[in-house]
Amino acid sequence: MKNYISIEMDAKSENEFFGRLAVAGILTYADPTMEELTDVKTAVSEAVTNSIIHGYENKEGKILMKMALNDNELEVEITDYGTGIEDVKKAMEPMYTTKPDMERSGMGFSFMEAFMDELKVYSKKGEGTRVVMKKIFQE
Ligand code: ATP
Ligand code: MG
Repeated sequence: MKNYISIEMDAKSENEFFGRLAVAGILTYADPTMEELTDVKTAVSEAVTNSIIHGYENKEGKILMKMALNDNELEVEITDYGTGIEDVKKAMEPMYTTKPDMERSGMGFSFMEAFMDELKVYSKKGEGTRVVMKKIFQE
C-alpha cells in the first residue's frame, strides 16, 4: 500500500466510531457523495465489529487500520491478531454466521462486498484476519 496512514486501536466498540471518522476524513479529498461516504463508513464498521466480536470475542486486542487514497482509489485494510477464520470462503457466504444466537445475521461480509468495489479476506486460524477493501471514486 503506497502513501498510507495507519491507526492502531484497542478492540473496543467505542473505537469503531473513530475508525469511521478517520476514513471519512481521508475521503474528503475524493469529494464523495453522501451515499458513497455512508457505504464506506458502513463497510469499515462491519470489519472492525467483526474483529472485536469474532476475532477477539470481546476480549482485549489490537486492531490495525491502514488507509490510503491514491489516484482516486481508496484502500482500507483492517487487521486483527485474534482467532482467525477456518474457512474464509464459507464465512463470506451471505447469512453465514458462527454466532446466530447473538442477533448476528451473517451479512457483514456481504455488505462490505456490496458497498466497496473489491473485498479480499486473508485469515489463518489462531493468527488473525486481514480484510482489504478498495473503492474507486470518479472525478
Ligand atoms: P453480522 O455481520 O451480520 O452481524 P456476522 O458477523 O456473523 O453477522 P459476517 O460479518 O459476514 O457475519 O462474518 C461471517 C463470519 O465470519 C462470522 O460469523 C465469523 O465466524 C467469521 N468472522 C468474520 N470476521 C472475523 C474475524 N475478524 N475474526 C474471526 N472470525 C471472523
Ligand atoms: Mg459481522
